[in-house]
Amino acid sequence: MRIVLLGPPGSGKGTQAALLTERINVPHISTGDLLRSAVAEGTPLGKKAQSFMDRGELVPDELMLGLIEERLGSADVKPGFILDGYPRNLAQARALDEVLERIEQPAEKALELVVDEEQIVERLARRAEEEGRSDDNEEVVRNRLAVYREQTAPVSDYYRDKGLLEQIDGIGSIEEINRRLADALN
Ligand code: AMP
Repeated sequence: MRIVLLGPPGSGKGTQAALLTERINVPHISTGDLLRSAVAEGTPLGKKAQSFMDRGELVPDELMLGLIEERLGSADVKPGFILDGYPRNLAQARALDEVLERIEQPAEKALELVVDEEQIVERLARRAEEEGRSDDNEEVVRNRLAVYREQTAPVSDYYRDKGLLEQIDGIGSIEEINRRLADALN
């Protein structure tokens, strides 16, 4: 199964991807997690990415493409993947299609978790308290949501046009939402 998971920051993508990865046995690829590891390890990519992440901006496309190409080239991706956090704009969506075409692994479904903005601000405030992520403070959250609206939301239409988009109600318990996602895959 080759799945692209879409949805705004705080929509529960990471949580749901972690559950789905066990259900369907393909790796969960989170570009946010990959970047946070790179920052923690102080790699050249991490050093370049950090200031963008701290401001809630997108890390430049060319850096992201290198990262995602390398990850998708790994052997464990043969049975499929759940992509979480990529693509974040139309250029990334097109670049991803090219990479996937080259490795003959085209995306099969784009699942979008739909959650309204008010709920998201609430959830991210809670996450800031629980996990202490530096980009979950109010000002950066507001910027991440603006970036989502302006740059990432159009990605849904891109997948809708390809006939791959399925929108899932992202409000409910973790189990309920996971069931909806699983149903969408059957
Ligand atoms: P996330 O954990 O997916 O919310 O990502 C955290 C931060 O990492 C984002 O606010 C961006 O700064 C950066 N990031 C993650 N994925 C991407 C991507 N596909 N393109 C650009 N920046 C990204």
